[in-house]
Amino acid sequence: MSTEAHAAPEQWTRPLPHPTAISRPFWDGCRRHELLIQQCRACGRHVFIPQAFCPHCLATELDWTRAVGTGSVVTFTVVWRPQTPAFEVPYVIAIVQLDEDVDLVTNLTDVTPEQVAIGMRVEVRFVDVAPEATLPFFAPLDGAGVQQ
Ligand code: ZN
Repeated sequence: MSTEAHAAPEQWTRPLPHPTAISRPFWDGCRRHELLIQQCRACGRHVFIPQAFCPHCLATELDWTRAVGTGSVVTFTVVWRPQTPAFEVPYVIAIVQLDEDVDLVTNLTDVTPEQVAIGMRVEVRFVDVAPEATLPFFAPLDGAGVQQ
């Protein structure tokens, strides 16, 4: 898996994440270019988004574990008209199912909207957008996308 970081645009104007006590380990992991998800100590299932308890068995003991960083596009949409000028269009919002069987809402990068397909294999691409924030985007795993 490539963990190559992609450079953020010179001036990142989009909103930045606001980590909570529960989600901070995830965002700290992103800063280190590690995709962290939770795993339930009781039932063993993976959990995302960060939770205080397991949505499968309600156990409260969740450990953080590093995801492989690969998955498949479950669905996607292409944004052509941004709600604010901060977003450069077009861009692709996708739900990616990680290979650990949890879904993650993300942006796809290094691919044109026309190339995106449901089921496309993707891998995480960390984008350092600010000194305090790194976002986990995803790019085609097989190199079918284009370099931007
Ligand atoms: Zn559980």
